[in-house]
Amino acid sequence: MCSICLGWILSEPLECDVLIVGGGPAGLSVASHLASTISSIIVHQDAEIGRPVRTSGGSWLRDVKTLGIPSDLYQIIDQLDFYSDNEEALFTVTKDKMVVLDITGLYRHLAELSKGLNRQLLLGTKFLGTEVQPDGGYLSKLRSRQSGCFEIRSKFIVDASGWHSAVLAALSLAQKPRRTGVGIEYEFPIGDYPQNRAILFVGVTALTGYGWVFPTSQNTVRLGVGVINPDTDLTPRQVMDSFIGGGHAARFGLTIPEGYEVNAGVIPSVAYDPKLVFGNIIRTGDAANFATPTVGEGIRIAIQFGRILGAELSAFMAGDKSALQRYEAQAAKTFVRDYKYGFAMNKRIVRYTPTRWDKSIARLARLSETEVTQMVRGNFSAKLILRTIYLSLRAKLFG
Ligand SMILES: Cc1cc2nc3c(=O)[nH]c(=O)nc-3n(C[C@H](O)[C@H](O)[C@H](O)COP(=O)(O)OP(=O)(O)OC[C@H]3O[C@@H](n4cnc5c(N)ncnc54)[C@H](O)[C@@H]3O)c2cc1C
Repeated sequence: MCSICLGWILSEPLECDVLIVGGGPAGLSVASHLASTISSIIVHQDAEIGRPVRTSGGSWLRDVKTLGIPSDLYQIIDQLDFYSDNEEALFTVTKDKMVVLDITGLYRHLAELSKGLNRQLLLGTKFLGTEVQPDGGYLSKLRSRQSGCFEIRSKFIVDASGWHSAVLAALSLAQKPRRTGVGIEYEFPIGDYPQNRAILFVGVTALTGYGWVFPTSQNTVRLGVGVINPDTDLTPRQVMDSFIGGGHAARFGLTIPEGYEVNAGVIPSVAYDPKLVFGNIIRTGDAANFATPTVGEGIRIAIQFGRILGAELSAFMAGDKSALQRYEAQAAKTFVRDYKYGFAMNKRIVRYTPTRWDKSIARLARLSETEVTQMVRGNFSAKLILRTIYLSLRAKLFG
């Protein structure tokens, strides 16, 4: 992909077929899967691809393999452990293994997949708004850190701006999410912590959210906590301070050195809305609320559906008038049922007390490895739902 900085003030608008707003995994994947005959400009408000890191990178081996992600861009996890204040559920995972992604490396790899195609990547460039033109196209206003304001004329716009929903919000076609997950992460050298063990923790140290410990393939470990706003007034920084101040890191075998790196990010935490196509504006990734409502895992989904959108938008532009409906229908088929159940679960568990979490983790310990990984992935089969209801009833009746 050709990355350019606008070192001059543009008096004439730039032109392309598809303007993509957001250079995260969703936007980069749309770009690499548009047909080679289509021209596209990707605008990204950050100065670099993949930095700063705004996510923690938990994913799944079977998905990264299907997506063709090189093996040096992830760490395989063999041990997945859950903790509440007084309970634990420890799983040696043999079948559906988790991985932790090298975020910066992965996003740069996704950008490289557009190499040789008619793509321009404008870094340090923010989408400000757009107007529909008499010919049905769009004239968008942007601001570059280097050269100020300029315009881009395009036939289509893809909103891949994450929780910002920058395009749809600017046109009042959708609102920015009112409920969000906000996370902070400290990343530091791994020390003696095992490179193949991930931890998820809940309870007093992570109220209205959860915490995680993810080792990376770059010999670092990421300790993170997330909260849901406005369900709590606490900031993730306050939760993290109290976790560290309370000495809880030692329980997980972590020593936090001076000078750690801080990653932080935001994710939508609202009910899934299946409408994705608004005329010639299409949303994808977090801007379409694709991340799982249970643990907020969205990178593999942003890549998968970004690629599908790239292919279907190309088909649409080539005359296949049902192609964008197919994209919308495929997303609805994949998400509507699981996300309805997952979001209901999300709303319920944010109100859990530490005692309730203890009971929940004790129940989790009775699930099989497969049931646990299904639950973390946000896949709720009827069998899994019935089994969790059964375990919950049994705990209520027999303690
Ligand atoms: C704390 C935290 C932890 C997470 N952990 C995981 C995890 O372990 N595993 C997982 O799979 N997912 C995780 N997620 C979710 C995951 O990060 C997202 O689902 C994924 O990044 C979505 O990709 P995206 O491309 O849609 O959006 P983003 O990654 O948000 O990318 C959108 C980009 O658009 C840019 N942008 C926004 N507005 C504009 C504008 N006006 N003009 C130009 N550019 C703009 C933004 O700067 C941003 O970089 C986590 C999220 C958070 C917040």
